[in-house]
Amino acid sequence: MASDSGARGTARPAPTHPHPATTGQPTVLSGATVVLPTETVKNGQVAIHGTRITTTAPENAQVIDVTGHYLLPGFVDLHNHGGGGASFTSGSAEDILKGIHTHRLHGTTTLVASTVTGDMDFLTQRAGLLSELAEQGEIAGVHFEGPFISPCRKGAHAENLLRDPHPADVRKLIDAARGRAKMVTLATELPGGLDSVRLLAEHGVIAAIGHTDATYEQTVQAIDAGATVATHLFNAMPPLGHRSPGPITALLEDDRITVELINDGTHLHPAALQLAFHHAGADRVAFITDAMDAAGFGDGRYWLGPLEVEVADGVARLVEDGTIAGSTLTLDRAFKRAVTVDGLSVEDAVTALSANPARLLGMADTIGSLEPGRFADLVLLDSAYDLKGVMRRGEWVVGPQLH
Ligand SMILES: [Zn+2]
Repeated sequence: MASDSGARGTARPAPTHPHPATTGQPTVLSGATVVLPTETVKNGQVAIHGTRITTTAPENAQVIDVTGHYLLPGFVDLHNHGGGGASFTSGSAEDILKGIHTHRLHGTTTLVASTVTGDMDFLTQRAGLLSELAEQGEIAGVHFEGPFISPCRKGAHAENLLRDPHPADVRKLIDAARGRAKMVTLATELPGGLDSVRLLAEHGVIAAIGHTDATYEQTVQAIDAGATVATHLFNAMPPLGHRSPGPITALLEDDRITVELINDGTHLHPAALQLAFHHAGADRVAFITDAMDAAGFGDGRYWLGPLEVEVADGVARLVEDGTIAGSTLTLDRAFKRAVTVDGLSVEDAVTALSANPARLLGMADTIGSLEPGRFADLVLLDSAYDLKGVMRRGEWVVGPQLH
């Protein structure tokens, strides 16, 4: 595995940390359109004290007028390989923090760090490092994408390192993550696949069907065994055919499955995204970035695990064969695109970007909504849906930029 994780392309300064001083003073954001789980409140307000959203604000609270803006819960990314020039698969702890911060600057207040295929020793070692960052509260946990995936649908994963999902190997990875493994993507049709799904479900780890060559029937079996997520639906799986409905049909029709969608305009045709959204319904879609190092950084040459990637015009492709290799998406762009291009309501976009992933992570009581008691993780957008502020755990990461 390459230890060279850094971008060799465009050099840019490391992201800065533009936190205004956190006074600990209670704050009220007032006048905004506040998107809550059951209603959208015009001219609403959100009160913050310490790290949490509160029901009421004390009299000494600082009031910030955010009239004309939207207040949304912070975005939650289930599937993210890096950003800001840093890779979660191969970067140092310091690099990884830089990558996390880059995504926070774009409204992602919670993310699961995804690895790409590597050999087992390497991945267990990475699991250790990432679980430390999870213990520190920097990430929500670890997602292993590969090595248990299909060589027929490998995408940007190194074929020579792929392996069948033997439960003992799956177990090795989740043990190495010390309770912080949140999701494993696997091709459930491979030998050991269904037993691995059962093992993951027993351990409270999401079994995600992806990079799969499964038939419709094999996919139904995997869902019955306990799989609950479709890894980037449509990408790296057989297409939907009228005589071979394939995994896409099985994943869309079953209420037990939440489908990940990469809403960057490159991975999916807008009509395919709409088809999935309308069929599954807002409650079963999670917008993800599947971002790689170049997200929030720039075009150039990068490494995705051991494979070299060229990023041009924001589209990442393997140098060796042009396969799309992750995205350079950030969730603020995914949100704006959902509302302005895909025609989704603000409420549905919030459900797909915050509430659903929070629920899947088992964190709905602390993140994913602006209800009192939750962490003060929020995104401030202007009326054109452009990002004007990000607060995480009661601290401004961006802004608020109100003029
Ligand atoms: Zn993938």
